[in-house]
Amino acid sequence: MFDNLSLKLEKAFQTLKGQGSITEINVASTVKEIRKALIDADVNFKVAKEVTDEIKEKALGQDVLTAISPGQLLIKITNDELTTLMGGQSEDIRIEGSPAIILIAGLQGSGKTTFSGKLANYLKKQGRQVLLTACDIYRPAAIDQLKVLGEQVGVEVYAEPENKDAVKIAKAAIEHAKKNNHRVVIVDTAGRLAVDEEMMNEIARLKDALKPSETLFVVDSMTGQDAVNTAKAFNDRLDFNGVVLTKLDGDSRGGAALSIRRVVEKPIKFISTGEKMEAIDRFYPDRMASRILGMGDVISLVEKAQMAYDEEEAKRLSKKIRKNQFDFNDFLQQLEQVKKMGNMKDLLSMIPGMGKAMKGVDIDDNSFKPIEAIIRSMTMAERENPDIINGSRKNRISKGSGRSVQEVNNLLKQFNDMRKLMKTMNKMGGGKRALSALN
Ligand code: GDP
Repeated sequence: MFDNLSLKLEKAFQTLKGQGSITEINVASTVKEIRKALIDADVNFKVAKEVTDEIKEKALGQDVLTAISPGQLLIKITNDELTTLMGGQSEDIRIEGSPAIILIAGLQGSGKTTFSGKLANYLKKQGRQVLLTACDIYRPAAIDQLKVLGEQVGVEVYAEPENKDAVKIAKAAIEHAKKNNHRVVIVDTAGRLAVDEEMMNEIARLKDALKPSETLFVVDSMTGQDAVNTAKAFNDRLDFNGVVLTKLDGDSRGGAALSIRRVVEKPIKFISTGEKMEAIDRFYPDRMASRILGMGDVISLVEKAQMAYDEEEAKRLSKKIRKNQFDFNDFLQQLEQVKKMGNMKDLLSMIPGMGKAMKGVDIDDNSFKPIEAIIRSMTMAERENPDIINGSRKNRISKGSGRSVQEVNNLLKQFNDMRKLMKTMNKMGGGKRALSALN
């Protein structure tokens, strides 16, 4: 996410390296580089100029403390400015009414249906009773797609494939929700390939009739400035409450994320970074700024882990670790949990300093495949008690998994080291403390 921008900004700050103070001259050249980086990232020209003028003014107005270098000071100021640009505070969605209605609008292919599934999953994990409603009356495939997603996340989907009146379907869904104790109704609507009158009329009619507590506009961030223009067109007609930026995993520029708020004056509320149902995050301007500047985002990483981890499972696991019973079956389950957390590269880039290190490195779910293959080639007895894995067993596991004996050895060694560490932690009592934090 935003790799190119991060790299260019880093280069811009390097122009201040070795400078003892901030002067009119050295700041001017750094700010020029920052502006270029923003424009290259497809940030609206006017917005880029406003932001960099502000950065310059603030930098010149501040005394550099001896503890921080001019470069660090400028990074801090840029961080603050990018945060402000993206809206300052994070804004939550409004879930009001019984049931609360959330209307999802956007162009076809922007990721509306996928997001509807993700939002249902997200709200369900908060303990809410959710109903998904398929109101795309033009594409029967869209109804099926929503049904598949609903099943995947365990949320009921209301659909009337024969009905061609979106308002009637949505109203029937709301009645259904009232009768069946659903507290939130998410309405997925039809989109078109481009903004057109008919689509706008339909979605406006839905909004008037349903009076949703929240109307979210979903837009593909990879379309850059087009995303901003489409947002403007939808907002002029719909006056929506918030923006959902999708496909940020494929967007290395970031122009939409950086300009949409300033141009449309509506907050970004969620971002989507992959096709999996867990690849959804609430949008925090400060955390995003920090990621853009290569400073990582540990808070989001921890939150993602909490969302992916099943509480019961975490308890069961901590018990096993405390009793020194952690085995390869647990290890395999851990891998599954990590994979559920979403795009691996994106996750790793949330660790401070990792963003740059990850550039050009290809890490995805397949990176775990060799490890999984090895573990799956073990018998249950071997998984539960790896100590019995002798030479001939290693050969068999190597053949079964299609990996070398060396790789099997490496995995066994890593696993043993991990177990030793757990044992030591248990002895010190630290493990208990760390693990109870997990519970
Ligand atoms: P809709 O027409 O607006 O309902 O769009 P869909 O939900 O059908 O999404 C269009 C395509 O984009 C599908 O192939 C999705 O799997 C994909 N997609 C949606 N969100 C994301 C995302 O955040 N990242 C990536 N990489 N793909 C996405």
